[in-house]
Order: sequence, then C-alpha cells, then structure tokens
Amino acid sequence: MEGAGGSDIETTSPAMGTWADVLALPPLPRPDFCAMRSEACCGNSLVLFLIFLFVAPMQAHASGKDPASLSMAARIWIFAIYAEAAIAITCLIGLMWGDPGTVKRTPDTCFPQPEIISERLRTGQSLSGVGNVHEDGRVFCCRCLVWRPDDSDVHHCATCQRCVKEFDHHCGVFGRCIAGDGCGGNMGYFKTLILMGVLGCATCVSFMFVVASTATHSSGMYGHSPYRSHAMRNGVPTPG
Ligand SMILES: [Zn+2]
Ligand SMILES: [Zn+2]
Repeated sequence: MEGAGGSDIETTSPAMGTWADVLALPPLPRPDFCAMRSEACCGNSLVLFLIFLFVAPMQAHASGKDPASLSMAARIWIFAIYAEAAIAITCLIGLMWGDPGTVKRTPDTCFPQPEIISERLRTGQSLSGVGNVHEDGRVFCCRCLVWRPDDSDVHHCATCQRCVKEFDHHCGVFGRCIAGDGCGGNMGYFKTLILMGVLGCATCVSFMFVVASTATHSSGMYGHSPYRSHAMRNGVPTPG
C-alpha cells in the first residue's frame, strides 16, 4: 500500500511483493469456527422465530376469512408483514455471507514487510511473541500479516481472526463482525435487520389491535361474550 510513509517503510524492507509472494505467506489464522457457528445458529434461530411470531397470527387471521371479505387496510398490513419478513431474511443472508470489510491480503497490503516480520519468515522462525508493528502512523498486523489502512478504524477480531475495517463490534448473536461506516460494510444489513424486528412487532401488534377493535364494534361492546349472556339472564341492562 502506498502512502506518505512509503520511503520509511522501504528502508526497513525494500522488497515489494507479488501475488506469488502473497500466496507463499503462512496461512491466515484459523477463525473460531465453533463459536461463530453456535452464535450464528442462535441469531438465525432468533430471526426465524420472530418472523414466525409476527407473521403467523396475521396469516392465521387471513386464512380464516374469505379473501374478498378482507378490508384493504388488512391486506396492506399483511403485505407489509411479509415484506418486512422478506427484507429481514435478505439482511440475514447478507449478514451471514457478506464481507464486513476484511482487510484482504494483496501485494499492496502485505508488502513491504517490517524487518522483524520478514526476518522471521525468511529464517523460518515462529511469529509468536511478535506484536503488531507500528511504523510511520501505520500498523502491521502480525497475525494477518497485512498493513492496516491508516484512514480506517481497523481492529483484529479475536473470534473471526481477521482485521476488519470500520470495526464496530463482534456480534455474539450472529457470530459475525459488525463493521462499516453508516451503511457500509455489513452495518446496513445489521441496522435494517433490527429495524425490521421493530417494524414487524409494531405491524403485528397494531394489526391485532385493529382486528380486535373492529370485531368489538361490529358486534357491540360486549359482543356475544359469556358476560352478555349472563347479564341478560339476570336482567342486568347491557348497552347495545
Ligand atoms: Zn489482523
Ligand atoms: Zn468477528
């Protein structure tokens, strides 16, 4: 990666790398797949459960009715809950499979290497005990073996074992790093998924409230409730 500190870096290790040199580097550290899978399983289950929780009551209401008898408002509500569910699943897929902003290994990001790193790799020594190398305001990650971009808030995630740009946090629910400025990286998916959860809850609750309210008005305040029958048997005046 070229930058203002290029000349200083060249004094520590003049060698510029090629893609062959990148491929010859030691493998990237192994992510904690066990933790990531269990977290992702939790997050996926939670999203699918919430979708079922919000969609099922509305679908059950619609299924028990003649489609022609559904009001336009009810149809819009049901369309909205399905749209929110579809957006939530899309965001979930994006969160699971999208790149949060991992710093990739390329000739520009890997080379030139700091002297201590190149020396150890050349002599076959372990990199254990070597910390991140700070040079000219930039940081070289000793685990990913990449120079971090100096214009981005980069963090090496201990679970994913990758350097991630614009890192916000590692989500213990979805098992992925959440990163990105605004809606960049996978932050857009994350924010939209949370928004869909709130909207889904609001849509379902408001739909049920309106359905209950409509049913009450259509059959009177007491409707055909046991209270009404009991009150009429005992001569208690009831409204309506
Ligand atoms: Zn790293
Ligand atoms: Zn992570």
